[in-house]
Amino acid sequence: MNSRVGLVVDDRYLHHAISRPSQENPERLRRLAAIVRDRYRQKCRMYPARTAERVDIEAVHSRFYLDQLRQHAGNADPFSYDRDTYLMEDSFFTAELAAGGCLELADRIMDGTLDHGFALIRPPGHHAEPGRGMGFCIFNNISVTAQYLRRKYHLNRILILDFDAHHGNGTQEVFYDTDEVLVVSVHQRDLFPFTGKADETGSGQGDGYTINMPVFAQFGDLEYTFLLGRVLQSVMEQYLPQIILVSAGYDGHRDETISGTLLSTEWYSLITAMLKQYAHEVCGDRLLMILEGGYNPASLEVSVLTTIDSLLTMRRDKIGIFYSERANQILKNHPLRSCWTLQ
Ligand SMILES: [Zn+2]
Repeated sequence: MNSRVGLVVDDRYLHHAISRPSQENPERLRRLAAIVRDRYRQKCRMYPARTAERVDIEAVHSRFYLDQLRQHAGNADPFSYDRDTYLMEDSFFTAELAAGGCLELADRIMDGTLDHGFALIRPPGHHAEPGRGMGFCIFNNISVTAQYLRRKYHLNRILILDFDAHHGNGTQEVFYDTDEVLVVSVHQRDLFPFTGKADETGSGQGDGYTINMPVFAQFGDLEYTFLLGRVLQSVMEQYLPQIILVSAGYDGHRDETISGTLLSTEWYSLITAMLKQYAHEVCGDRLLMILEGGYNPASLEVSVLTTIDSLLTMRRDKIGIFYSERANQILKNHPLRSCWTLQ
């Protein structure tokens, strides 16, 4: 097998379900998981999920929150945190598998079996805060993974890039005070959860290590590529991350009704190629992408497939980054522009 790309695909992720309509539902992954399994059988290494250990989840979430969740585990009556975030009989176990699936790929990347990983998991995680679930998220999968990498492998320069349409408020909260995890987020402004303003830049030791780029609805490939091209270039040169973790949310796609941004399917291929290139240059190819949002099953499907294809492809042409005045305004006015030489 030439490929060094690993995937976590597991039908147990379909077990978290509620009878009332919810945008975050098993149908997001049912068909996609089957296609991925079939299409990449020969090209990628496939891993089943594993259960995250309690100690790994407690590195992010409070004991009180975990005890609260555990009380509802196995209980047939639904329990709701908010309008979107529900807990059914199998939800707690599915959430443990979502975090654990990411840890499995993190281990395989760190032991050198893999270069890149894609965790096709649910429920998503980046809204979950230390003390509560919200916005479809129960455990903050990417934060659990970053904490695990700090503890088990003593990494102290972890880059998290979040390109989901929504701000990853939970991830920001977990790492707000530390410089060992740099959180870069591009998300639509004035959208749930209404956090992630440019002047939220971290505190204490973490001051300057949260980079938020709220963008306008109507921003698409040109603006996103310009913004992330500039910011990632600067971050890679100055921070030298030891691994790149990605909150890969696909709800900024132009066919999604949940957001107003206009990303094309091809953009996900482009950003993946860009990240691969950076991972190759600065961190020995270590790149782990973790599924967050994406609620239109059709656009989610093609976008995830194009991402995995891009992980597998050696791209030789230089990625074109074209100037966008609208996007440049965001960098020009950014409070961290001189700290990270964003311009
Ligand atoms: Zn989202």
